[in-house]
Amino acid sequence: MHHTVAVVGAGTMGAGIAQVAALAGHPVLLLDAAPGAADRAIAGIRDQVKKLVARGKIDADPDALDLTAADSLDALAPARIVIEAIVEDLAAKRVLFNDLERVVAPDCILASNTSSLSPTAIAAGAAHPERVLGLHFFNPVPRMRLVEVISGADTAADVADQAADLVFGWGKTVVRAAPTPGFIVNRVARPFYAEAWRLLQERAASPETIDAVLTGAGGFPMGPFALMDLIGHDVNEAVTRSVWTAFAHDPRFEPSRAQRDLVEAGRLGRKTGQGIYHHGAEASPTVAVAAPPRPAPPRVTDHSATDLRALTTRAGAPVLDGYHDTGVMELPSGALLVRSTGVTATELAARHRAPVIVVDRTLDDATATAAAIAIAASDGCPAEAADEATGLLQSADIAVHVIDDTPGLIVTRTVAMLVNLAADALHQGVADAADIDTAMRLGAGHPLGPLTWGDRWGADTVHTILTNLHDGYGDPRYRPSPLLRRRALSGGRLA
Ligand code: NAD
Repeated sequence: MHHTVAVVGAGTMGAGIAQVAALAGHPVLLLDAAPGAADRAIAGIRDQVKKLVARGKIDADPDALDLTAADSLDALAPARIVIEAIVEDLAAKRVLFNDLERVVAPDCILASNTSSLSPTAIAAGAAHPERVLGLHFFNPVPRMRLVEVISGADTAADVADQAADLVFGWGKTVVRAAPTPGFIVNRVARPFYAEAWRLLQERAASPETIDAVLTGAGGFPMGPFALMDLIGHDVNEAVTRSVWTAFAHDPRFEPSRAQRDLVEAGRLGRKTGQGIYHHGAEASPTVAVAAPPRPAPPRVTDHSATDLRALTTRAGAPVLDGYHDTGVMELPSGALLVRSTGVTATELAARHRAPVIVVDRTLDDATATAAAIAIAASDGCPAEAADEATGLLQSADIAVHVIDDTPGLIVTRTVAMLVNLAADALHQGVADAADIDTAMRLGAGHPLGPLTWGDRWGADTVHTILTNLHDGYGDPRYRPSPLLRRRALSGGRLA
């Protein structure tokens, strides 16, 4: 026998949660303060389920789903769990939970789908705070597998376990997170957007190029600008702002002025027809222009450039053994190819007294996931040298994007910051390592959990990248997490 689930708030999230609960066989009571909203949501759910059945995605009878619009709070009395998805407002949620406690059974679980409020704060004033917790679903609920289960200070362990078991039974993957701002996903994912804004602010590359490199070299399913246009800049900026505020304006989370401008101009993304890109009928193609084809250089000389070898092997370039231990590949022109460690090509050129081309990092150099890559040349680097580097990488079937000489290029800095925030979340006990990685893969769609990614590049390499960014910019935003520093020194793993 499936017990009754009540959902309060029949908007985007409430309707999604009700759909998933009903499909799992629960009688669902749906309540909304706006007249008619619950009925409309139920009709919408049946429509949605019909479409899924027609497309062969699920097997269900849409008319048999046990969904009822509740006309008052009292009608929720049979519920064994109430999940609220009303406005994101602490006072409103507290009032609702207080009122609910007068209606529901003493052992009924009270869950909040809040994205930013602490379940401890929501439970304050409740007669039974031990039955209050956060159940953070992701939008769209039927498609997103992740649920963050957040225990407040008073939440009973068996309440969290029961809630976790329940949503697990709905086909969700559960991670446990502490009641800290942004929980796991909304905190650790910030650099994916923030570094893109920084790059744009420094005019390092166009949004098209930044998106193409993060998908082509980073293996992310969508670039940050395309994704923010989809999410809505109002929503994305509000999450950034709330995390930044909650962390006492820590520069790591600082919102972008350019994004604020978009919000104030009403350019919210797909929903308004324009965000970073144009959408709709007259939409311009959002394609990045890669460098034109260049001939592959006849040879390269490998001066212990271990972190470039997978790429040169893939390119099939003839490699001569060099005799320096400098970690660079020498091109026929005498220019040097160097893997990014967060230092500009110009700074490296001054050190090596030769023109330098810096190569961005990727998810995996050896496989086809690296379909695009960013490179940057030192100031005054001859065009011929950049062409040699371009030709080399193109012969590995990689689209090359020559961007301005920016520390950490695109993937290097973005992933280093994701690893850094994940390490900090681990250090501060937000969640365990496996849950942090799972949350980022399923909740943010990242191709690899950040801690596993950090181990793949090496904690010491990531630490070096961040230290160089920190020094280069003089910005505490890039300060390495103490845990990352420890792992870099001890050679231990993050994941
Ligand atoms: P929404 O605006 O689409 O829906 C909210 C609904 O709640 C509306 O229908 C409104 O009429 C109703 N409502 C407001 N106050 C009420 C009250 N006191 N009693 C009953 N009904 C009330 O909002 P949403 O996007 O579905 O978000 C709901 C909650 O889920 C928020 O806490 C939000 O932070 C959280 N959340 C949203 C997302 C997202 O991507 N939209 C993701 C995760 C969590």
